[in-house]
Amino acid sequence: MNDLIANEPQIRLFAFLGILAIMIVWQVLKPRRAYVKPIKEKAKRWANHSLMMVISTLLLRLALPFSATAFALYIADNDLSLFGISTPLVLGVILLDCLIYWQHRIFHKVPLLWKLHRVHHSDETLDVTSAIRFHPIEIFLSMLIKFLAIWLFGLSAVTVLVFEIILNGMAMFNHSNARVPGDSILRWLIVTPDMHRVHHSVYGRETNSNYGFNISLWDRIFGSYIAQPKDGHENMTIGLNEYPGGESRLKGLLLMPFKR
Ligand SMILES: [Zn+2]
Repeated sequence: MNDLIANEPQIRLFAFLGILAIMIVWQVLKPRRAYVKPIKEKAKRWANHSLMMVISTLLLRLALPFSATAFALYIADNDLSLFGISTPLVLGVILLDCLIYWQHRIFHKVPLLWKLHRVHHSDETLDVTSAIRFHPIEIFLSMLIKFLAIWLFGLSAVTVLVFEIILNGMAMFNHSNARVPGDSILRWLIVTPDMHRVHHSVYGRETNSNYGFNISLWDRIFGSYIAQPKDGHENMTIGLNEYPGGESRLKGLLLMPFKR
């Protein structure tokens, strides 16, 4: 088990770069929507999304003394979970996924949290790099919620690592601009790019739908499922009405939660 923790950064990086590469090739070869912009502007947007991820990683390293997996290991080794239970891997992953669904929904409903989460929604378009465009404070709060879940359900380090790799991979998949064959069948099981794109529409009703990241079932169970965008995938406007044309400057993204 300690090997797992020791190799965690390499395992994560390998999974991240592998899925990133696959989704970049996929969305270039089979794009779902047209996105015409000068290459310089595209590169700036991608660079700033990458910088947001780097800043979030640094913040987690500086603000928290250990990773979620190390915390899970500590809880398990010392029998410290709240009810003295240890949840098995598959159930743990499903529980975390349901929790993330509700976390996302709450970030839409509580005005202070929405100020953080709208950074993600103010993107002018959607592609694989939208998956890493989150405000560092939102990433930090998500980590605290994960710590709480580990303590409540006695989640193992493997559960946490498997879930985080799935979540990162699925976020890159469902934010990508890839055309996915068999979408209508696949989305009975998992959240597809077409399903998640509805969530990034400028229409409030559509923004407040399809909160799931991995399993598509939660939106169907909890009544937040919208099948298709009103204006169609090719013609729909992505983003927020407050940020017409989107916001992609690093300073603008970092300061956005502190603006009215
Ligand atoms: Zn959202």
